[in-house]
Amino acid sequence: MGMQVSGQQESQKKLHPQTMCPGFGAMRILTRMEDTRVCMVTDKGCMYGLTFVSQFYAAKKSVVSPELMNKQLTAGSLIENVRETLEVISQEKNVKLIAVLSLCISETIGISEDMLPKKVGNANVVLIRLPSYAIGSHPEAKDQVLAALLKRFSSSVDKKPKTLAVVGELFPLDAMAIGEVLQKLGVESVMFLPSQQFEDIVEAGSVSACAVLYPYYKQTAKWFEQKSIPVITGAPVGANATYEWIKKIGGALNLDSEHVESEAQDQKLQVKAVIEKFPLQGKVIIAGYEGNELPIVKLLLEAGADVPYASTSIEPSALTKDDETLFEMLGTSLQFRKHLEDDQRAIRKYMPDLVIGTTSLSDFVKSLAIPSVYYTNIISTRPLFFSRGAQMMLMMIQSLSQKKEVYKRLSDFFDFDKKI
Ligand code: SF4
Repeated sequence: MGMQVSGQQESQKKLHPQTMCPGFGAMRILTRMEDTRVCMVTDKGCMYGLTFVSQFYAAKKSVVSPELMNKQLTAGSLIENVRETLEVISQEKNVKLIAVLSLCISETIGISEDMLPKKVGNANVVLIRLPSYAIGSHPEAKDQVLAALLKRFSSSVDKKPKTLAVVGELFPLDAMAIGEVLQKLGVESVMFLPSQQFEDIVEAGSVSACAVLYPYYKQTAKWFEQKSIPVITGAPVGANATYEWIKKIGGALNLDSEHVESEAQDQKLQVKAVIEKFPLQGKVIIAGYEGNELPIVKLLLEAGADVPYASTSIEPSALTKDDETLFEMLGTSLQFRKHLEDDQRAIRKYMPDLVIGTTSLSDFVKSLAIPSVYYTNIISTRPLFFSRGAQMMLMMIQSLSQKKEVYKRLSDFFDFDKKI
């Protein structure tokens, strides 16, 4: 006999978590590092999908894995197989770091660092554990990787004055914009993490302050705090946040306060001018899974959009607290660790003019004749910070929000309603 699901249970169903595998997040950091190789210790199933990801994100660099079929997993030769694989990898040219990723399967999760060599040839070996049932989302896996590298390789050294680490993956134009503003403020050296250079990891402990741009870098922020390095949260997205961010940097690095105030005001006015030029109207829902959704929501609210609901795959933490308070005040309902069903319920409830969401959500939204685009393709391929970022983002949202009639015509033409 089939199980009956009550109306109440039905409406609270959460069957589709919206995140990629933690291994994917880890690969996005590790495969981009020069002179670094990934040794994945998991079964063949995970390898199929993650090998594809490695080819996609790190041209010409493949992931290596010991052969772990049933035979090897049950024969007790796992560590031996891993060690042999490390030897093979270390013989490649210019390998400085081998990251051993232990993923979900029970046979490999128990590997401890003591069982592995610290170094093979010239390559340092580091073990990073990323079981999906303990990590929760792929952005948080990036944090896990960066924190593991810092813990293992960055020694506490004397702080260099006026030096800053900026933590968060950046669109190249954003990195340039941040560098320009910091230089104007009098910052002498900026290190971007996660970095392509292993040396940056080693030297990270020598900075005077650290700016964590995205709220999923919790372990990394904690590591800096434990080294008595002040951590600045938030990002220069929107007029108010840009002003605050610059002021906090100035304070943490003891920069000339008048000069900092003048630069902060100047940048704020530039963003404000963009917001006045490209004001938003209508209801927009932001439902991504990359973990950097909150600053975008703030920018949209500042530009006049009604954002009744936003969601993300990460969990709430001390780094999201300020945004949570602000959104509550402004009437934006915020869903952490979201599922597709949470987002779908919000769409039905608010019937927005535009949705920037995951692929599966966007399909659903388009079928309702509401304009929708895929978050990662649209957001991660554009600058976001300062006035240039605001301009690109607001122009795009303005243009997409006006497409409702086009989507309606499409829906009528293909008769979507009758097909779903
Ligand atoms: S089992 Fe775990 S590591 Fe493997 S693909 Fe699934 S989530 Fe990723």
